[in-house]
Amino acid sequence: MLIDTHCHLTYPGLVEQADTVIDRAVAAGVSRLITIGTDAADHIQVRKQLQDSPAVFGALGIHPHHAHEVAPDFIAAMRAHFAQQPKLLAVGECGLDYHHAEGSHEVQHHVFELQLSLAAKLNLPVILHVRDAHDDALAVVRRYRPTAFVVHCFTGSTAEVESWLALGAYIGFTGIVTYKNATDVANACKSVPIDRLLVETDAPYLSPVPKRSIKINEPSFVVHTAEYIAKLRGVTLKSVAESTTANAVRLFGNALIAAGAAK
Ligand SMILES: [Zn+2]
Ligand SMILES: [Zn+2]
Repeated sequence: MLIDTHCHLTYPGLVEQADTVIDRAVAAGVSRLITIGTDAADHIQVRKQLQDSPAVFGALGIHPHHAHEVAPDFIAAMRAHFAQQPKLLAVGECGLDYHHAEGSHEVQHHVFELQLSLAAKLNLPVILHVRDAHDDALAVVRRYRPTAFVVHCFTGSTAEVESWLALGAYIGFTGIVTYKNATDVANACKSVPIDRLLVETDAPYLSPVPKRSIKINEPSFVVHTAEYIAKLRGVTLKSVAESTTANAVRLFGNALIAAGAAK
């Protein structure tokens, strides 16, 4: 069993074929999917998806790309979603992204910090999106100290991964780790203790090798990323699957695999 800990079933490319995509994932042994809502409109779509699909769980956050668009009461709206839908397991993705900075860094910080406070109040884990902003994001996380969190789609260096691990982070790897030119990411992945490692697709983006030519990534392809990581670390796929599943359950809670939750 594998868990795709980060995908976007509500995004174009996947939303039109969500049911078949979920069926293909389950058939491939990816029996749980966590779909991530990234702005207020998307949060509503995610909730619909959770109602329809026993294998799908969710997280809600304001992605740094959308930080400049939030309504003044966005935290209250998020709070209401969490109160009404127990399949929402985490706050995020939230964080800092200076790569394609839309809106000011200041706005990104403000919206990020409000979400860390919300996670603390609700006692939920956090899914962090950090791109070209590791130092600043580390400083914020050191101040807020979320009880449990993952740095998703990790693309930093081995030194950066060490800083995150020192704060108790889980580290999520996407198909990027399978790319020929991503040796830094592969090295960082090798250095993560097995009990801190998560796998994810970030579908519909970032198809892993050998599916890279398929433009729309999908949760069933997380198997290829897990296989690649197994080879990279010199262990079996089974051991990567068992460890990453146990890690996901430790991070997101037992609800993720509770009996009767899936078809
Ligand atoms: Zn992200
Ligand atoms: Zn994402």
